Amino acid sequence: MKVPFVDLSCANSMVRGELDAAYQRVMDSSYFIDGPELAAFEKEFAEFCGVKYCVGVGNGLDAIRLLLIAYGIGPGDEVLVPSNTFIATWLAVTQSGATPVPVEPDLLSYNMDPGLLAAALTHKTRAIIPVHLYGQTADMDPIRLFAEAHGLVVIEDAAQAQGARYKGRLAGALGHAAATSFYPGKNLGAIGDAGAVLTSDPDIAQAVRALRNYGSKVKYDHEVLGVNSRLDELQAAFLRVKLSHLNAWNAERKIIAERYHEILKDVDVVLPFVPEFADPVWHLFVIRSSRRDEIVKLLSASDISTLIHYPIPAHKQKCYPEYNKHSLPICELLSKQVLSLPMYPGITSDQMDAIEYCFRKL
Ligand SMILES: *Cc1c(COP(=O)(O)O)cnc(C)c1O
Repeated sequence: MKVPFVDLSCANSMVRGELDAAYQRVMDSSYFIDGPELAAFEKEFAEFCGVKYCVGVGNGLDAIRLLLIAYGIGPGDEVLVPSNTFIATWLAVTQSGATPVPVEPDLLSYNMDPGLLAAALTHKTRAIIPVHLYGQTADMDPIRLFAEAHGLVVIEDAAQAQGARYKGRLAGALGHAAATSFYPGKNLGAIGDAGAVLTSDPDIAQAVRALRNYGSKVKYDHEVLGVNSRLDELQAAFLRVKLSHLNAWNAERKIIAERYHEILKDVDVVLPFVPEFADPVWHLFVIRSSRRDEIVKLLSASDISTLIHYPIPAHKQKCYPEYNKHSLPICELLSKQVLSLPMYPGITSDQMDAIEYCFRKL
């Protein structure tokens, strides 16, 4: 039985009628940029996350980048980031002109270790970007406390964590501001590129609103050097449909994760660790093993696809030669051992059985 790593047609076909109606609505309105669908989605997603403002932008990378610019972070400033993340977290920092300073994750949760922030702090540090990796929030209280003690801004990278909770509070509402992505494969995915900034700070929301639209608040009046990075009406209309199903889809991911825990409980692999403070949304289900290659081969021989998030840490990428000699042993160990198993709403119990059958051979 074939098991793809992810199959977006499952979730999309569940709501196909609603998506088609959203498309018709936008076509009939002839409003394609900055219209009523975006305003409605921004309001609905801000409410969902428990923040005052949501500002839609073109993608998740721009959401982080525009936030850094809005906070006035740029050349000469340092930003504390994990290196076991998608490259966008780093690209946003370097595109703003600031310098990423990597902080190791803890080996249990794979998220930024708050205990290591102090060693990375310099007089140039301005911000921390914790990434809620794989759909589970970082340990935000100690990160916030550290930031407050040193006057730093906390920007969540919540791209993988729509609906995830930390001590009951939602990802996106745990820092000064948050960036998220609606790349199609995220838990809340568009039918194309999209992203958003979340914050309860009116000044930051307004600054990002201007930055995304050529730096203007009033048409043809440009106060700052902005960019063109907008969430269009069609994507906003699709996202409104999908937001109304997000909790149900996240609940389905949780059931799949429980099934994996059951399947793998006697298998010699490291299972995802969920700290007491976290209620993850299982963007990815990531196991860890020194026999990763063997597991990949075994699964793929049975037509079961897997992926590695991420095979090369940010500091080892060719685009960052100045970091390539840095040593981050935990991050580097993870890149050699992590393996993401198929995870998406709509995966069938027959497919899960096929995965179980395969792991029995390990
Ligand atoms: C997907 C992702 C991004 C970037 O989002 P895009 O919309 O693809 O630009 C940033 N950070 C993390 C952790 C992501 O997973």
